[in-house]
Amino acid sequence: MPPIIWIDGTYYDRATGKVSVFDHGLLYGDGVFEGIRVYNRRVFRLPQHLDRLYASAKGVWLEVPLAKPVLHRLVEEAVGKSGLDEAYIRLLVTRGVGDLGLDPRKCPKPSVICIVDTIQLWPQDRYDKGLVALTAATPIHHRESLSPRIKSLNYLSHILAKVEGIAAGVDEVIMLDAQGYVAEASGMNLFAVTNGTLKTPPAYAGILRGVTRDAVIELAREATYGVEEVPLNRYDLYTADEMFLTGTAAEVVAVTKLDGRVIGHGQPGPITKELAKRFKALAIRGD
Ligand code: PMP
Repeated sequence: MPPIIWIDGTYYDRATGKVSVFDHGLLYGDGVFEGIRVYNRRVFRLPQHLDRLYASAKGVWLEVPLAKPVLHRLVEEAVGKSGLDEAYIRLLVTRGVGDLGLDPRKCPKPSVICIVDTIQLWPQDRYDKGLVALTAATPIHHRESLSPRIKSLNYLSHILAKVEGIAAGVDEVIMLDAQGYVAEASGMNLFAVTNGTLKTPPAYAGILRGVTRDAVIELAREATYGVEEVPLNRYDLYTADEMFLTGTAAEVVAVTKLDGRVIGHGQPGPITKELAKRFKALAIRGD
């Protein structure tokens, strides 16, 4: 049984799914990936995830060796084989096997890997009470260095931020960009709610444009809340009525304390709760 692992056309299990030590994905973090959710045996927003994967690959001069519709079918086939109703998919394209130098031209064939498993980031009480977060000193990548819009295999800055949070005993971290604007959490996008209006950093500022973020923006507009994609300072978060994070693995989760400041009333707010509920319904509906 799970996980199901697919590497370049062959299925493996946890014990046998292995990659070469000469794969530049391992040697240099040279590759791109997606985290995708399965609800009720249906893959949530697979076209959007595939679009982002192929765009990320283009951003790092990597050609995905399969056409998008073929990869779409393979992901669905792997989910079917897993037998899981609820699952988390990790889809990767690595530069492939090369020599010990950096040159990607020495890697003739990118590898495509698909893992179908399960995930749970936090126990239910974190969703009920909200997360305690701090602003990490580690910023996200500068957008003209490794663009944060590319979901690359280089997650060290996000991991280092996460380590700061772990060392401080909090649940999650907020990361700033190189200019000091609020960017995102370690693997999630963020929203502040003030006077019934949602505010979130714009993708062009240099953040990962989350599939969950986009879904929540649609849901908020449907529910007639205002949504503004604007640069945010930490002040905007500290003084918000509500704050929440969105991500494929986390879904929608409130932040009730940031850098020692209680956000709003210190509990998940009504708009956060409503959007979390609407997101669950959307995920189960699957559109
Ligand atoms: N930012 C980062 C850095 C992430 O890794 C993720 C998770 N993919 C997100 C935001 C949220 O994106 P999504 O809603 O597509 O999972």
